[in-house]
Amino acid sequence: MIDPRASSGEKLAPPAPLPYVSRKALKRVPHALPVPTVCKCGGQVTLMNNSAIYGREYGDWPYVYACTATGCGRYVGLHPDTDLPLGTLADKPLRDARNRCKKPFERIWRDKLMKRTQAYTWLADQLQLSTDECHFGLFDVPTCERAKAVCDAYLEAIYTSSARFG
Ligand SMILES: [Zn+2]
Repeated sequence: MIDPRASSGEKLAPPAPLPYVSRKALKRVPHALPVPTVCKCGGQVTLMNNSAIYGREYGDWPYVYACTATGCGRYVGLHPDTDLPLGTLADKPLRDARNRCKKPFERIWRDKLMKRTQAYTWLADQLQLSTDECHFGLFDVPTCERAKAVCDAYLEAIYTSSARFG
């Protein structure tokens, strides 16, 4: 569901340290997730500049929701120009799995084998998830791996047959 603030009349108050929240950018996020407040580990989640994580600001919208508990290290980035999280907070193995396993999926729509929305519908069907649940930012490690496996199989079937038939 689109964040209701996208169609509200009043000026949007950005939570610190965000400089602003763009209504137009909120409209571009079809499945807005709730702002995280408590981590899986029980720690408090805070919105912060990602220089706290990387040592310097990284990217055009350099903010994260991060767990403040010592030694946890779970965080998640934001949709650009919004305060909306890209997914659930993730530790390093989960962040790595999401990044790695998303690549064959992105290739499907970047190679124009399907349109992007069509690819998400297809993937949801393959994984037996609803389209609301079918986002790499929501996946755990096993679901990431399942997604990668079905996308790899799809790509292999397409490119092997096109190599064979020209
Ligand atoms: Zn935590």
